[in-house]
Order: sequence, then structure tokens, then C-alpha cells
Amino acid sequence: MALNVLVVDDSAVMRAMIIKTLRMTGLPVGEVYQAANGQEGLAALAEHWIDPGIVDINMPVMDGEEMIERMQGDPDVADTPIIVISTEGSETRINRLIQKGVEFVHKPFRPETIRDIVAKITGVNDGHDT
Ligand SMILES: [Mg+2]
Repeated sequence: MALNVLVVDDSAVMRAMIIKTLRMTGLPVGEVYQAANGQEGLAALAEHWIDPGIVDINMPVMDGEEMIERMQGDPDVADTPIIVISTEGSETRINRLIQKGVEFVHKPFRPETIRDIVAKITGVNDGHDT
């Protein structure tokens, strides 16, 4: 089973880095979709089946927190696993997100962290013992 991934970040450089990391992990990556803010992210979710969404917090137009809240109000995408990757430093905000059931990873991140969390939340592994 290949994972369709949605990467939502206002930085094109960061999106490229996350996608490169995903491809390096050995996880079976299928389609990769990109969005530059929460609004575009929701549009992509409405159009494509997404296994994990990887979402930044601080973005113009619609931030990651609002995107996740809207997803959770929509039965079609409420169960889509989400990993938040952010430089966010506010413990309060991070805890609020974790309580919504998302995984949180600090930027800068280690590739193994991304691999392990994607494997955990999707139940798909890279076929190697770690
Ligand atoms: Mg950002």
C-alpha cells in the first residue's frame, strides 16, 4: 500500500525538504500533494485520498490549527492522520494541538523521526527492522 501524502507549508523550500525526506525514509510514498496554506490544504483533502497530512502551523490565509479544526468538523476527513511540523515554541499551543490527536514534530526535524511517526500513524512500515 502506497501512502498518499499532503504537505501543507507556506515555504516551498520546506515542502521540498519534507517531500525529499519522505522519499528517503523507505516508506512507500504514492502521490504527493502540496498546499501553501490551510485553505489550499482543505481543498486538496476534498479532492484526493490522503493517508497522512503533514501540516505547518504558521501560514497566511489559514493557519494549520484552523485547518485541523475544520478537518475535525468534517466526517470525510476527521480521521485523516496529521503530523504537525513547526518551529512553534508555545507549549500551550503545542499541547492544544496534541489534544486534538495530532502528532507534533519540531523543525528542524530528523528524517528518522518523520519515518517513525508516519509508520506509527499509518500502520505502514519501511520493510526494515529499525
Ligand atoms: Mg510557516
